[in-house]
Amino acid sequence: MVLLGSTGSIGVNTLKVAKKLNIKIEVLVAGKNIKLLNEQIKAHNPKVVVVSNKEDIKDVNHKNVYSGSENILFVIEDAKSDLVVNALVGFLGLRPTLKALECGKRIALANKESLVACGNFIDTSKIQPIDSEHFGLWYLMQNRPVHKMIITASGGAFRDWDIKKLHNATLSDTQKHPNWLMGQKITIDSATMVNKMFELLEARWLFGEGKYDAIIETKSLIHALIDFKDGSTTAHFAHTNMQLPIAYAVDAKMDENILDHIDLLKIGSLEFREIKKNKYPVWEIKEDLLKNPNMGVVVNAANEVAIQKFINKEIGFMDISKIIINTYEKYSQMPSSVDEVFEIDKKIRESI
Ligand code: NDP
Repeated sequence: MVLLGSTGSIGVNTLKVAKKLNIKIEVLVAGKNIKLLNEQIKAHNPKVVVVSNKEDIKDVNHKNVYSGSENILFVIEDAKSDLVVNALVGFLGLRPTLKALECGKRIALANKESLVACGNFIDTSKIQPIDSEHFGLWYLMQNRPVHKMIITASGGAFRDWDIKKLHNATLSDTQKHPNWLMGQKITIDSATMVNKMFELLEARWLFGEGKYDAIIETKSLIHALIDFKDGSTTAHFAHTNMQLPIAYAVDAKMDENILDHIDLLKIGSLEFREIKKNKYPVWEIKEDLLKNPNMGVVVNAANEVAIQKFINKEIGFMDISKIIINTYEKYSQMPSSVDEVFEIDKKIRESI
C-alpha cells in the first residue's frame, strides 16, 4: 500500500494492521516526525518516502526520499500498489485523494476533510472510509427500508464541564478526550462537536440522501445505529480501537479476529445524551448544512483557520464555533466544480 500520514494516530494503527495482514508497504508519507518515520522505515522497508520539509531529507534513513506536497502526488501516480490509505490531516489531504482516484486506485480514506469539502465531486464507490461511525453504519446496513441513520459522539473533552468554564479552556484541556487517543486536530474537533457534524456530512456523501443524526453515548462502545422503517433499531458495538475499521478498509474480506470481544456484563450500563446547542454551538448549523452539503468547504476552511488561531492563543475555545457560524452565515457560495472547491477554500481562509 501507499500510506499517507504514517506517523499519525491512524498511520501508526494502519502499520499495525498491515503487519498483521501481511500487506507490504510501498510508500510512506510523513510530516515532521522523522524519529518515528525512521523506526517505520526500519520495520517496513518502503521503496519510497516523502516528508513535508526539504531540510529534513538528510535525517531520513532512506536513499529514496522526497519532500513537499507535489511529490506526494507524484509518488501516488508512480506507485504500483492499487491501495492508497489517506491518513493525512486537514484540507491538504484532498489533492492526494483526487490524485489517487484519477489514477484508478482504491482508497481507504481517514482524511475526512476530503469528503467534507469536496464530497459532491468524489466518486464514493471507490472509497472505503476509515471512521468507526461509517464503518458501523456500513456493517449494519441490510436490504431493508431505513428510517434514520444515527451515529454516536463521545461528547469530547468538555462533555462534563460547566459551560461557564469553556471560555477559558486551553489547548491541553481539549486534548483530554474521555475515550479515544487521536491526533490533535480531530481531538479539538471532538470538543467543539465539529467532528460529529463532519461525520454526518461524510455519511450523507457515502450513503446518499436520507435522515441522519447523532447522539452522545458516553462510553463510545456503540458507534452507529440504524433505525429501520419497521420500528426496529440495530446498533454496532465494538471497543474503541481504529484497527477494526482500518482492517476492513484495507481488506474487505476480513476473517481475522482484530479486537477483544465486547462483554456486556462488564459494561453493565450505557448512557445516552442529547447534543445540546449551548455546549456545542456549531450544532445550530447542523440541519442547514445537511440540507446544503456543498457548503462543507466553507465550514471546513473556517474551522481550520479558527483552530490555528486557537492554537496560536489568538482566540478562545468558544470563538472557534463563533468563527464557523459567522463564516457560514456570511458566505452562501457553493462550488460547482473541484476547481471552485479550491477557490472557495482560499477565499474563506483569506477572509477570516
Ligand atoms: P494526526 O495528526 O495524528 O496525523 C496526521 C498525519 O499527517 C501525520 O503523519 C503527520 O505527520 C502527517 N502530516 C501532516 N502534515 C503533513 C504534510 N504537510 N505533509 C505530509 N504529512 C503531513 O491525525 P490523525 O491520525 O488523528 O487523523 C488523520 C485523519 O484521519 C484526519 O482527517 C482525522 O479526522 C481522521 N480520523 C482520525 C481518527 C483517529 O482515531 N485518529 C478517527 C477517524 C478519522 P507528522 O506527525 O510526522 O508531522
